[in-house]
Amino acid sequence: MKFRSSVHRANLHYEVRHKPTSAKACGEAVTKLIKEEFNPNDSGIIYCLSKKETEEMSSTLNQNGVRALYYHAGLDDWARSSHHRRWAKGEVQVIVATVAFGMGINKTDVRYVIHYTMGKSIETYYQESGRAGRDLKPARCILFFRPLDIVRQVANLEGQGGPLAVQNVYEMGKYASSNDQCRHLSIASHFGEGEPPNNHTCDICQGVCEEVVEGDYTGHAGAIANTLDAARSLKEDLTVLKLVDKWRGSKNAADKALAQALSKDQCEAVITHLVLQGILEVYIKFTSYSANAYVKSSLKMSQVLFGDGVLLRLPAGNSKRKNSKQKANASSGGIKVVKKESLKAVAPVRNDIKNVEETTTTKKKRKRHDTAVSHLKQSVKMESEGRPLVAPHIIPNMSLGNLMDDDGSGEESASIDNSDDDFM
Ligand SMILES: [Zn+2]
Repeated sequence: MKFRSSVHRANLHYEVRHKPTSAKACGEAVTKLIKEEFNPNDSGIIYCLSKKETEEMSSTLNQNGVRALYYHAGLDDWARSSHHRRWAKGEVQVIVATVAFGMGINKTDVRYVIHYTMGKSIETYYQESGRAGRDLKPARCILFFRPLDIVRQVANLEGQGGPLAVQNVYEMGKYASSNDQCRHLSIASHFGEGEPPNNHTCDICQGVCEEVVEGDYTGHAGAIANTLDAARSLKEDLTVLKLVDKWRGSKNAADKALAQALSKDQCEAVITHLVLQGILEVYIKFTSYSANAYVKSSLKMSQVLFGDGVLLRLPAGNSKRKNSKQKANASSGGIKVVKKESLKAVAPVRNDIKNVEETTTTKKKRKRHDTAVSHLKQSVKMESEGRPLVAPHIIPNMSLGNLMDDDGSGEESASIDNSDDDFM
């Protein structure tokens, strides 16, 4: 009989927090979290999407009395090595990094890993968050999540990786929006494992996650379909944010009333959840300067409107978390990505989470599992030998440039210039 190791990390506490809309409010939320929930000598990593974000976040932290340095591939070798060394020695509390930070991390006492934006798969999230608590003492993995980040990550793929890459993003989106299954179990089942030993170290088990309420959103889906139809008749493509605006300003009074009864954030959540259910589809169009993600009704739309109806589980907007006082500043964001190709439409990809689960074979899960375990073992072994870790998952195109406008002031979409490898 062959025994298989587990991917389960019992000392890690997983948590997902609501991510405010504006970059400023996000910076404040992260600062508050570090100052109020960790000791000044606790060591941490914050993962950001772009070089610019790492520099801004580092600056925000320092201005607020949290010693931080940033790390990305745009720094010269000396600066990278110096920033890494100073963090490793504990001279600064936090390193704010892009995914380039993974090479040579041999610090075992990292007490928290914060993700400022959802990553592109559960695998990468598991590996990056797993850099916390390698000394086997309690450590925390906190993901700041905004539904729009799911669509942004699909845009980030720039049409590369095919349907599987999109499915991976949706699986990560499902992890982030879930509130009814232990996060350890979500991760374990992604890698084909059963329920991990009972330890309740996640926000869901402890009942401090964002409250999610199931409701009938058939009318909302119909109103969104009407809004998309109206745009289509004008040959207009709609991003998620533009769709929110058009819906809220609809000429159809009933459709408009449904939107106005929700906050902008809630409208965004409804649309994103319709994407996750395969009722809306994301498609990407490339221009000379950008790749933009738009949404349209899928074939499933008519099916649900005239038959099954739409049940969604959405945040109730009244977080039960005691320390969570972040207020969402409903405004902009963006889905544009730079692509130096001219106008190439990418075929929409099936995006039903349920289908993702059904098509993910046991074989794939076993492969994922063995890879994850082997990286875990390798990292622990290397640490015990005092050798630096080699990041198992540095994947080009992991992320892009600045996906959020600087102040969230209502720019419909931010153009991202990754021509200089901004993401590393
Ligand atoms: Zn749990």
